[in-house]
Amino acid sequence: MVSSATALADNSMPALAHGFDCRICGGVGPFHNYRVREMMFALGETFDYALCPDCGCLQIVTIPDHLSRYYGGGYYSFGSRPVRHSVGAALVRARNRALSGRVDPLGWLVGRFKPYRALASLHSLRLAPDARIVDVGCGSGELLIALQSAGFRALLGVDPFVAHDLDLGGGLLVRQVELRAVPGPFDLVMFHHSLEHIVDPQAALQAAHDVLAPDGHCLVRIPTVSSWAWRHYGVDWCGLDAPRHLVLHSTQSIRLLAERCGFTVRDIVYDADAFQFWGSEQYKRNIALMRPCCNDIVPAPGAFTSAQLRDFARRAERLNRECEGDQIAVYLQRGG
Ligand SMILES: [Zn+2]
Repeated sequence: MVSSATALADNSMPALAHGFDCRICGGVGPFHNYRVREMMFALGETFDYALCPDCGCLQIVTIPDHLSRYYGGGYYSFGSRPVRHSVGAALVRARNRALSGRVDPLGWLVGRFKPYRALASLHSLRLAPDARIVDVGCGSGELLIALQSAGFRALLGVDPFVAHDLDLGGGLLVRQVELRAVPGPFDLVMFHHSLEHIVDPQAALQAAHDVLAPDGHCLVRIPTVSSWAWRHYGVDWCGLDAPRHLVLHSTQSIRLLAERCGFTVRDIVYDADAFQFWGSEQYKRNIALMRPCCNDIVPAPGAFTSAQLRDFARRAERLNRECEGDQIAVYLQRGG
């Protein structure tokens, strides 16, 4: 990622001279410092991030004291999303079955037109319906509900930032606790865009390792600076999401962290979508990503033509094929 630092040098503040060590590799710099605007709600605040020249990780320099104040009531992970009925509940169930690795030809077809990347990331794990799965930082449990509809029976959500424990029905619970507070073992621990929000990601990954069955898997989906979008958009890259994203990993730094926790890195798959384009373009134009009365993050009305959005989607797939998309799924296995 030295090349990224070089490419973005013109946008950056002077390198930090003292007083900061990389929280991932312990590197002492010199770091490039980037001043990043909060743009989920366009609060008008800025936050400094430092790029480690050793492991390539970008991290917030000072973790805000009261992070919860940046998770407004409408924050997307906690909003109650209405079930979309555009393809019908039965077709959604079929899609969920197919994407999560069950055999369902109709569902596979639906998934081509209505993708769900979090579910699709499970496909290669070939999980049995009774696999014990915990989703860390699950918010209101949208993914767990989809997995339940796909036939999975041993599901649990943990999220210390939900207001209280949630009973989602059918034995499905979201508990307002940290992962280390729940007894294992699990066959799969997953972090879907949650690890970058955690103050101590090493402790979180270590807890995941410790709660896994001996041959268990851990799936970590995160934004990454090992991407075209970071190099192209710099401080306007929507994946930064300051100050909620505390660590933006390079592929090198997430490997380092995972291996330190005892994991073997089995695979890294790029699974970014069109958001990297339209979200970053909105960042550039100072258009907040989330609007009042809207629980979802969708392009601002009128900001893009449908042809542009289709082009963004095509380009996102191309970047994934080139290992240049701005989101990755990291497949970890306990032990060797
Ligand atoms: Zn580092």
